[in-house]
Amino acid sequence: MGNERVVVIVGGGYAGVLCANRLRSSLGPDEMTRTRIVLVTLTSTFVERIRLHEVAAGSRADAGIAMSGLVHPDVELQLGRAVRVDAHRHLVDVETDGSVTAMPYDRLVYAVGSGPDRSVPGVAEFALGIADAAEATAAHRAIVSAGAGARVVVVGGGFTGVETASEVAEQNPDASVTLLSSGALLGSMRPAAQRSIRRRLTTIGVSVRENCRVEQVTATGAVLDTGEEVPFDVCLWTASFSVPELARTSGLSVDGAGRLLVDEHLQSIDSPDIIGAGDAVRLPDSVGAHVRMGCAMALPLGGAAAHTVLSTLRGETPPVVSVGFLFQCISLGRTHGYIQVVRADDSPRPLALGGRFAALVKEAICRMTVNRTRKEQLTPGAYWSPRGPQRRQVPHPAPQWHGDVRIR
Ligand SMILES: Cc1cc2nc3c(=O)[nH]c(=O)nc-3n(C[C@H](O)[C@H](O)[C@H](O)COP(=O)(O)OP(=O)(O)OC[C@H]3O[C@@H](n4cnc5c(N)ncnc54)[C@H](O)[C@@H]3O)c2cc1C
Repeated sequence: MGNERVVVIVGGGYAGVLCANRLRSSLGPDEMTRTRIVLVTLTSTFVERIRLHEVAAGSRADAGIAMSGLVHPDVELQLGRAVRVDAHRHLVDVETDGSVTAMPYDRLVYAVGSGPDRSVPGVAEFALGIADAAEATAAHRAIVSAGAGARVVVVGGGFTGVETASEVAEQNPDASVTLLSSGALLGSMRPAAQRSIRRRLTTIGVSVRENCRVEQVTATGAVLDTGEEVPFDVCLWTASFSVPELARTSGLSVDGAGRLLVDEHLQSIDSPDIIGAGDAVRLPDSVGAHVRMGCAMALPLGGAAAHTVLSTLRGETPPVVSVGFLFQCISLGRTHGYIQVVRADDSPRPLALGGRFAALVKEAICRMTVNRTRKEQLTPGAYWSPRGPQRRQVPHPAPQWHGDVRIR
C-alpha cells in the first residue's frame, strides 16, 4: 500500500504496550487501514515487573501474561531484540534467532525500559537482581536452596528494596533478612511514613541498617564503606536500575545514565520521528524534573507517546507532555502496605494509609495497571493519570536535563 505508515514500538513493557493499544484505538477508520503498528518484543509474554519481588519471595510462581490477551490483535508482534537504530535511514535492526532484519519505520517509539544495575564490583557475580523475570526466579530458587535459617541480604533502601525485604521475610519466616540502605530508609518519604514502615519491617523480622553503603559484593558478604562485611547466603540487589545501551550505541543523544534525551513532546532531540517513553527516556527538566523511573510514569508516558505519534502522523503539533503522580504505593508483604498521597510533583501530602487496607489498595493498583492497559485496546484514555505539575519556566529557551536522576 503506497500510503502506508509504519510505527515500530521497541519494548513490550508497560510503556510500549500501552502506547501500542492507545495508538491503535485512537486511529480513525481510514487511518487504521493505512497504519501498521509493530511491537518489537523479546518474548510473547508481558512481564508484570511490579510483581517480581513476589516471584523472588515465592508468593507467586511467575509474573508473565500472554501478550495475545493484552495487546490489540491488529498490533503485529515482532519477536526479537532491537540491536541498532539508524535514525538517518529510518531503520531499526532487529535480531531474531541469530539473524538480523532491518525494519523500516516512519515513527519509532523507544520504550526499552530498565533492568538490573550491576555496576558495583561483585554484583554481577555474587548478587541476584529482581529487575527481570529470570533473575527473580533465580532469586527464589537461591532462597529455597539456602534452606531454613538462610541469611538473605537485600541491598537498597528504596521502594523496591523495602518491598522485596518485606515479601521475603513474610514468605520465608525461617530466613534472617537484613535490609541495607546507603542513606536513610525511604529517604524521600515523610518521617512519619519512614517510622511506620520501619515498625512494620521490624515486626516481620527484617533487620534494617541505614547509612551503610555497599561498595563490593563477594561470594560470602556485602562489603560496606566502613570495611565491615555483612555475611549472606543470598544477596538481592535492588539498589538501582540501569537502562539498555541501544540509544547510546545507535549514536542518539543520551544522559549520563544512557537514557534517550527527549524534548517536551517526547521526541528525540536528534530525530523527531523517534519518540521515547518509560524508564529508558529522560525528559527535560521543564516537564520532567519530578519524573522517576517507575511504572507509575511509564504508563502515562506510553499514552503520551501515542499522542505524539498520532499528532505527527496527522501533521499536527504534538502536545507538551504532562504527567503527574497521585500516590506512592508500597507493599509490605501480602497483608500490609503503605500508601502516601502525593502532589503531582511526587512531594508528599500529609495524608497516608497503612496496614491491611493499604495492602488491598496496592493490590488493586497492580491489577489496574494490567486491566486498564488491556482496555486501551478499544478505549483510548482508559488508563487515566493526573496531569503533571505546572510547567517550569526554564530561563533558557533550549531544553535542559540537569535535574537529578530519580529511581523508584
Ligand atoms: C520488584 C519491582 C517492583 C516494582 N514496583 C513498582 C511499583 O509498585 N510502582 C512503580 O511505579 N514501579 C515499580 N517498579 C518499576 C517498574 O517495574 C518499571 O519502572 C517499569 O517496568 C518501567 O516500564 P517500561 O515500560 O519503561 O519498561 P519495562 O517494563 O522494563 O519494559 C521494557 C521492555 O523492553 C524490552 N526490551 C529491552 N531492550 C529491548 C530491545 N533492545 N529490543 C526489544 N525489546 C527490548 C524488555 O525486555 C522489556 O520487556 C518495580 C520494579 C521492580 C523490579
